[in-house]
Amino acid sequence: MTGSLQTLVDTILGLLFPDRCASCGRVGSLFCAECQAELRPYPAGSPTVTHPYDRSTFLDAAAVVFVFEGPLRDAVHCFKYKRIRRMARPLSNLLQAYLALHPLPADAIIPVPLHHHRLKQRGFNQTEVLAQHLSPACGLPVLARGLERSRHTEHQARLAAQERLSNVRGAFVWQPSTPPPTRVLLLDDVLTTGATLGACAQALRAAGTREVRALALASSRPERSDHSI
Ligand SMILES: [Zn+2]
Repeated sequence: MTGSLQTLVDTILGLLFPDRCASCGRVGSLFCAECQAELRPYPAGSPTVTHPYDRSTFLDAAAVVFVFEGPLRDAVHCFKYKRIRRMARPLSNLLQAYLALHPLPADAIIPVPLHHHRLKQRGFNQTEVLAQHLSPACGLPVLARGLERSRHTEHQARLAAQERLSNVRGAFVWQPSTPPPTRVLLLDDVLTTGATLGACAQALRAAGTREVRALALASSRPERSDHSI
């Protein structure tokens, strides 16, 4: 389809099915400015922070941008479960705005992989789609085919903290024969536990990565002083 024809089709589709805010339903955009203004930085009441991490977690840093609640929960739900992939644009813009203020040095972005069972259910890895949108803005390539889940793990949210660690330990592996980048930005959408990020970082380090920093769009967990986020 030519560019002008695509534009015409988009215009007609836009008239027939105008974008509505995933949270308040207001017509005009998928995630309106009013709802975005309600988002609460993580942790509540202070600028988003980058936590230094104990080496035992395998992460050099981990940053969470927003508290997972209200309009953001609605927007992520729309993206992930209603499978509205275009939600990736406003959500990745939020990540981009965060990185512009709080750069995390890296050579490439690696999205946390889904197990292929879940990928089949959902049809796409939401974090990979976010990474693809973020990539041109931050000038980093996305490596979505190197790190893989080596086995299916239970939903982390259903498990106690200690079980979470053992649930994901060794659950990821770097597949290619070529080593992963020296510095990796590990991306996740909603952080339920840092155990998954730690296990990803562990696999990357085992294959040669020297620095792993993690960025998640949101987490509902309160700030923790230990290293088990
Ligand atoms: Zn709204």
